[in-house]
Amino acid sequence: MGTTLIVGASQAGVQIAATMRELGDTDPIILVGEEPHRPYQRPPLSKKWLKSELVPGDVILRTREWFDGQGIGLISADRVVTIHRNEDGSGEASTQGGRRLHFDRLALATGSSVRRLTIPGTDFHGVHYLRDADDALSLEAALHDPANRRVVVIGGGFIGLEIAAVARSMDKEVTVLEAAPRLVGRVVSEETSAFYLAAHQRRGAKVVLGASLKRIIGGVADAAGRRSHVVAVELADGTAVPADLVVIGIGVIARTELAVQLGLAVDGGIVVDEHALASDGRTVAAGDCTVMPNPYALGIPGPTRIESVNNALEQAKIAAASLLGERPTYRSVPWFWSDQADLKLQIAGLSTGYDQVVVRGRPDDERFAVLYYRDGALIAADCVNQPAEFLAIRNALGKGHTITPEAAADTDIPLKQSITEPLLATAEAP
Ligand SMILES: Cc1cc2nc3c(=O)[nH]c(=O)nc-3n(C[C@H](O)[C@H](O)[C@H](O)COP(=O)(O)OP(=O)(O)OC[C@H]3O[C@@H](n4cnc5c(N)ncnc54)[C@H](O)[C@@H]3O)c2cc1C
Repeated sequence: MGTTLIVGASQAGVQIAATMRELGDTDPIILVGEEPHRPYQRPPLSKKWLKSELVPGDVILRTREWFDGQGIGLISADRVVTIHRNEDGSGEASTQGGRRLHFDRLALATGSSVRRLTIPGTDFHGVHYLRDADDALSLEAALHDPANRRVVVIGGGFIGLEIAAVARSMDKEVTVLEAAPRLVGRVVSEETSAFYLAAHQRRGAKVVLGASLKRIIGGVADAAGRRSHVVAVELADGTAVPADLVVIGIGVIARTELAVQLGLAVDGGIVVDEHALASDGRTVAAGDCTVMPNPYALGIPGPTRIESVNNALEQAKIAAASLLGERPTYRSVPWFWSDQADLKLQIAGLSTGYDQVVVRGRPDDERFAVLYYRDGALIAADCVNQPAEFLAIRNALGKGHTITPEAAADTDIPLKQSITEPLLATAEAP
């Protein structure tokens, strides 16, 4: 079959290589990643890593011995900049470092990069983003500097809130500035948003909703003209929120530059089908860089983009099999987690287009679930400190089963016992 080139050496890229080997492929595999580190997991970077509770060995995905043992050529600290494709699907990739890599099969697992804030002042010292290990090392050091007492987090999404929780646990004064009228509003219900607002406030964070930002204010540059340090974030109404440290977490953008170069369809991500095949029918793509018609979107039109480890891994398995000529279909129930202080949120399914929610349990106890329905059928749930409920719901969704809203609301009946009917005919079971 020849050489497989996988661009992007993170969750999806490494999993494509691993699955190809598991499926019996023995041909050469080259995995290229531009980061200078061994492939690692990103989720700990906004959680335990910032508290200095982990060492690099805790977050790496696979050891050097594993790559060697599997005969997978890992090239780090080099970026694929151009790809030339022949008629027969083979081609050659050129890297920034001057490598020319021949391939017979191609996988794109290029992930996403942070969305940049476009107000003045983002280049002052003390302004951080968090996407990769280098960002995490620099933010970890800044958080441990006692001079940085006041932390302003721009963006009340999962990563911003995780960082806010870490900063509060280190006794920093924390202010979260969120442009929308509620926290994590793009993903969760009003009930879950309200819970997180109260929970962060209880833990001592200030949260400003509907915050319109004007600029980041810095001090005076030194005599040599070196960048000065941030001192505040100014809102459109003139309020200045004092800051020694600013962390921006306003979402990510799929990295599609190579796909565009190859003429593949792109729509907010590389468009792939249920076999992880791109529009040319032979390149595969997986993970944060893709959009696809997710079966759990239950008829919501348009491709879905999912930024989660589970999606990267499950789609990568499909991509690997497709590269080997099999045609498995993506069927994994989407799921995600976020750890904020002692609150473990686990989300199963996709809530897009819900028309009813049921709150099971009491949010004030910090142990509850919000179940989402569309046309009477269960489509998703947010579970806070309820791992057993999460598993029950994820399994139910996987089997196309449901839980009636009435049963869901009754905490006297264990959720597992309430899983009964298949989804209604209007919501096509995957
Ligand atoms: C701080 C943080 C916390 C997170 N927490 C959670 C969580 O709690 N739960 C959860 O489910 N998900 C979480 N996520 C999201 C999760 O990490 C991503 O969904 C996952 O990493 C996606 O994997 P991926 O392989 O598709 O992309 P990425 O992890 O983005 O990897 C893509 C890789 O490709 C490389 N690359 C891109 N272009 C090129 C090129 N041209 N040449 C060479 N290399 C290239 C990039 O440098 C990168 O290393 C978190 C993400 C971050 C940043």
